[in-house]
Amino acid sequence: MKAAYISHPSSLRHEMGAGHPECPDRVAAIADRLLMRGVLDFMESFEAPQATEEQILRAHEARYFAELCAKAPAGDYVHLDPDTAMNEHTWTAALHAAGAAVLATELVGKGGFQRAFCNVRPPGHHAERGQAMGFCFFNNVAVGIRHALEALGFERVALVDFDVHHGNGSEDILAGDDRVLMVSTFQSRLYPFSGAVPRGANMLNVGLPAYSTGDAMRSAVIDHWLPAIRRFAPQMIFVSAGFDAHRDDDMSHLGWADADYAWVTDRIVEVADEVAQGRVVSMLEGGYDLPSLARCVELHLRSLVGIG
Ligand SMILES: [Zn+2]
Repeated sequence: MKAAYISHPSSLRHEMGAGHPECPDRVAAIADRLLMRGVLDFMESFEAPQATEEQILRAHEARYFAELCAKAPAGDYVHLDPDTAMNEHTWTAALHAAGAAVLATELVGKGGFQRAFCNVRPPGHHAERGQAMGFCFFNNVAVGIRHALEALGFERVALVDFDVHHGNGSEDILAGDDRVLMVSTFQSRLYPFSGAVPRGANMLNVGLPAYSTGDAMRSAVIDHWLPAIRRFAPQMIFVSAGFDAHRDDDMSHLGWADADYAWVTDRIVEVADEVAQGRVVSMLEGGYDLPSLARCVELHLRSLVGIG
């Protein structure tokens, strides 16, 4: 199995202020863990290129792209919402994070790789067509999905989002695009307070109650996700891989354990092998408790890469 690991040093330079949970240490903790545990020995490493304007405009409004570029500060932070700020490196890091998705899609779509994981930030699934929010600037996974559809000739792809927050940005961009099936789980009535009513027939949203454990997610996957994915028969599966439903992560009130991340990845791999020739592109989204984040990304990759 050929598997790609994609990162970029700019992920370590974008930061949004002291004490902000979406911090450079996240990608560093993951990289350190993967190196220490030997996982990277089984993956080919790549540096993420910058996405081009054309690639980003497949998912975002031209007005938004231009305004964000103009806001990139030379010095002090520029706040786009109370939680989302740009420093002098944010614009570059955001271009590379979206470019990581494009490269991953290329490698899996035509480069002989079956799996790719992008350890990059800023994350993307809250970024809407014309709006940065929730620590996100460009919707990396949507840029990758549109690249698969519009540059590589894929006709059907699926997006699986297991971050604890609803992927409102991915829904905003992809709702109504019948080339895409999006399935997700998220904690109900948590930021960004969307998802209860899907915005398109191609959206399968499963809200999970606060204080539920991984068992509720497993039921959602078995009862809802897998039948829908099998019916849709995507040619590639994208993953918005957020690790903030973990019981140690205080960003939410769900109680998933390490084993739940291995389990859900195993199910994604099984259905990808069944319908999508094993093609999986996974993008880092949330996950703010560094020890559990690093452990669960390791488990996610052991399953994706097939090294047990
Ligand atoms: Zn999240």
